[in-house]
Amino acid sequence: MTTLLTVVALLGLIWALAFHSASAIAWTIVLGAGLITGTLIGAFGWISAPLLWTAFAIFAVIINMGALRRSLITAPIFKLYKKILPQMSDTEREALEAGTVWWDGDLFTGRPDWDKLLSYPAAKLTAEEQAFIDGPTEELCAMLDDWQATHEDYDLPPSVWQFIKDKGFLGMIVPKEYGGLGFSAYGHSQVVVKISTRSGTAAVSVMVPNSLGPGELLIHYGTQAQKDYYLPRLAKGLEIPCFALTAPDAGSDAASMPDVGIVCKEMYEGKETLGLRVTWDKRYITLGPVATILGLAFKCHDPDRLLGGETDLGITCALIPTSHKGVNIGRRHFPLNAAFMNGPNWGKDVFIPMDWVIGGQAMVGQGWRMLMECLAAGRSISLPAQSIAAGKFASMATGAYARVRQQFKTPIGKFEGIEEALARIGGHTYLMDATRTVTAGALDLGEKPSVLSAISKYHLTERMRMVLNDAMDVHGGKGICMGPNNYLGRAYQMIPIAITVEGANILTRSLIIFGQGAIRCHPFVLKEMKAAQADSLADFDNAFWGHIAFTVSNAARALWMGITGARWMDAPACPETKRYYQQMTRFSSAFGLLADVSMFIIGGSLKRKEKLSARLGDILSLLYLSSCALKFYEDRGRLKDELPFLRWALHDSFFRIQVAMDGIIDNFPNRWVAFALKWLVFPRGLTLEQPTDRMGHEVADLLINPTAARARLIHGMYLPKDENDIIGQLEAAMHAVIAAEPIEAKVRAAVKGGRIAARGQAEQFAQAAELSVISETELAQWKRAQALRSAVVHVDDFDQQFKSHIRNEVQETESWQPKVVSM
Ligand SMILES: Cc1cc2nc3c(=O)[nH]c(=O)nc-3n(C[C@H](O)[C@H](O)[C@H](O)COP(=O)(O)OP(=O)(O)OC[C@H]3O[C@@H](n4cnc5c(N)ncnc54)[C@H](O)[C@@H]3O)c2cc1C
Repeated sequence: MTTLLTVVALLGLIWALAFHSASAIAWTIVLGAGLITGTLIGAFGWISAPLLWTAFAIFAVIINMGALRRSLITAPIFKLYKKILPQMSDTEREALEAGTVWWDGDLFTGRPDWDKLLSYPAAKLTAEEQAFIDGPTEELCAMLDDWQATHEDYDLPPSVWQFIKDKGFLGMIVPKEYGGLGFSAYGHSQVVVKISTRSGTAAVSVMVPNSLGPGELLIHYGTQAQKDYYLPRLAKGLEIPCFALTAPDAGSDAASMPDVGIVCKEMYEGKETLGLRVTWDKRYITLGPVATILGLAFKCHDPDRLLGGETDLGITCALIPTSHKGVNIGRRHFPLNAAFMNGPNWGKDVFIPMDWVIGGQAMVGQGWRMLMECLAAGRSISLPAQSIAAGKFASMATGAYARVRQQFKTPIGKFEGIEEALARIGGHTYLMDATRTVTAGALDLGEKPSVLSAISKYHLTERMRMVLNDAMDVHGGKGICMGPNNYLGRAYQMIPIAITVEGANILTRSLIIFGQGAIRCHPFVLKEMKAAQADSLADFDNAFWGHIAFTVSNAARALWMGITGARWMDAPACPETKRYYQQMTRFSSAFGLLADVSMFIIGGSLKRKEKLSARLGDILSLLYLSSCALKFYEDRGRLKDELPFLRWALHDSFFRIQVAMDGIIDNFPNRWVAFALKWLVFPRGLTLEQPTDRMGHEVADLLINPTAARARLIHGMYLPKDENDIIGQLEAAMHAVIAAEPIEAKVRAAVKGGRIAARGQAEQFAQAAELSVISETELAQWKRAQALRSAVVHVDDFDQQFKSHIRNEVQETESWQPKVVSM
């Protein structure tokens, strides 16, 4: 019995030391004291006592005597590590090193500092940005007719293009000193959100010059002469930029592009000039067909060593006027019925002077690093903004439609099946808005978070797909029949575009998020790699043993928090969210453990085990998304009426985290290790559940009513007041239909009580007014609601050749049939 108690006490000590990441000296003193006590009270037998003391002595030497440890233990491990460390190409290394680490670093520690997260300032618009959104952006949205652009003109009208250029939409990121708007990331994002809720075509046309492309590259890497010439012209829309990276045989693996630029000297403008003879063949280039300057990525070779160094200089970016001799540009692709400009371009042996290289000769060969660094920021803005626009739009339109549309004499939004879809729309939209806002806030603090930008891009575009799928299902045939009154169809068609560009989603999930996250955000992995590169045993020793202690600590923490549900962990003192923070601390530790064990056991081939890497990436991503949701809730002042969105989003995310962790363990190649992991991570089994039906009902209820929480959720979208605009009509219909419900109740009661004998609905209401069951004003109110309802459920039809269609307008009074206007 004494022995058993001593062993339990020793294990308890080990667990406590590991849990608190105790120092080497603390480990030695506490374990030594425990062994002495056990020996003195005779708890160990004559075999176990020497064994335990020998083990303790080796352990004490390893952790306390650096020089001995390094030569006896670390050195052979270091040798092996250097042998198995996968060789990295320059482009891979540059991609990995691009950007900064922000909150993702904390999530990797197993001990996220929640107070630190909450202390980051919330993203805010300046007065100037707000004025731009309320002024020119509102005006632009009112000018846009997406059907006209996508079905009839296959382009934006010239007046819209001119407005976009004149008002500076193409120069939102260009600093003010160059004549641009100099907007913050959040301001830029809000503009894109608003335009995206009106027209995907217009949004993409505005997004691209402000995203990864010539503007961004010039701001960061351009020579002063390039900045002085191009930035004011880009800001005023005098130049339309595009950026060409993708080639037919180099899509996701863009760094393998066959496009080349050979360093040479040629006569240019009457002078012998140092430059490049460039040959390229690019495709899918947005704005390419109308671009006046072509940003071009190619591989630079200097066979005659005219630049005095290597012959293969690497990826290089140049700016080429599209009017330059030999540039072939102008043909169009047709991306899924969207009307933004997109097309191929090519050139053969086109001579360009060296000062057309972005950043000049000094930046030859630096193109990949430049692109990766710009991607680290740009990817956090445009596509997340477009995605949250879809979420806001789907929440507004689907909530309203589900209230207005009746089947079985009931608004469809009240059926439980529809509630499920509405709950997903509302919950995902809240999570997306939180992620987009918090990430934009980080960019405005000067961060360029490469891993978080990949997470935002992937998870927001995927959630855009989910919410639009649900929105389509709730709308039924209304979403399917195309025409100017179909406000969903084009957004639905455009989903795969956002999924594919700026890092196609399958690749981003499977390879990038965890692959890059594990190296950049982990507290020790990059240090180990750098130590190997520098061949420094001392640095490796520090990093390696720190890593081991970190893993052991995460194992102890994961187990304890798995058993206790993390109940006593520190968390911000907010009663309604405290448990969520605690659970996330548990997930962070368990994630740290799973990540480390995967890296230790699977090593470099984890890169090829994409299914495991993807699940690890999912956990990191969901931890980030959930952190953003909690911060968003705090930053907005803990608005209690938004709790249903937050709760749904967090329960859904936590359940997904559990599924991902379970998936890793179930598919882990070493079954013994898998068994241990299951026990450490899920000591009480899979206890987390999906959002309950009640939670879903609360979210759905917020969306089908004109609640303040719904208004805040959809805030930032373009919401026209005009009732002859389908969206204005839809919102008005929801309000009118709800206002008419008590009137309908009065008439129903009178019919049931036998006071009203008329059979048709219109006749019943007329009789109700005659009998003063309802007032004349109420009758008019009801008629208006009916007219709006009828207009909203109406879909377009066309003549047989699809040459003309009808557009419905609301009749104010007598009839509630839509007025048919031939177009
Ligand atoms: C409308 C549109 C606009 C665009 N605009 C531009 C632009 O302005 N400039 C520009 O340079 N490019 C642009 N692109 C190109 C875009 O960036 C590429 O389409 C994208 O990089 C994917 O390349 P791909 O289409 O050749 O697909 P592929 O590379 O052939 O990929 C096909 C599939 O394989 C997956 N995949 C690839 N490798 C892996 C892997 N290792 N593990 C798991 N899955 C993998 C991908 O995720 C994808 O699902 C645009 C594309 C489109 C469609």
